[in-house]
Amino acid sequence: MAEAPEKSFRVLPRVTAANEHFWRGGAEGVLRFLRCGDCGTWVHPPSPICPSCHGKGLTPEAVSGLGTVATWTLNHQPWVPASDHPYAIAIVELDEQSGLRLMTNVVGCAAEAVHIGMRVRVVFEEHDDVWIPLFEPVEA
Ligand SMILES: [Zn+2]
Repeated sequence: MAEAPEKSFRVLPRVTAANEHFWRGGAEGVLRFLRCGDCGTWVHPPSPICPSCHGKGLTPEAVSGLGTVATWTLNHQPWVPASDHPYAIAIVELDEQSGLRLMTNVVGCAAEAVHIGMRVRVVFEEHDDVWIPLFEPVEA
């Protein structure tokens, strides 16, 4: 299977029934997380039980895709044969809920421009049947 040359090499996740809402939401341009139907808590990574109320009525729901960089680091090491080193590895917290975070890359700006508190929005990078959620800066 050939990759488009402009895409970075990525180790792709194993897509299962429990997480495909997350990895394939990008096909429709939306980022989805499980949400508890009882108390409204967003749950990530996927779990069969709500950590807040122990309810089992979790279903995928789309978020706005807007968030804030909570922390980040620059990766200078060519661990993988990507052409775009260094790049910024970030933990982004989604607007929907304090603590609803995912590890991702910030793209669309110089890696050195990434900072804590930076406003970002989701973009997707498609690899086969997986849509990797990445984030790009939102202009103020
Ligand atoms: Zn709940």
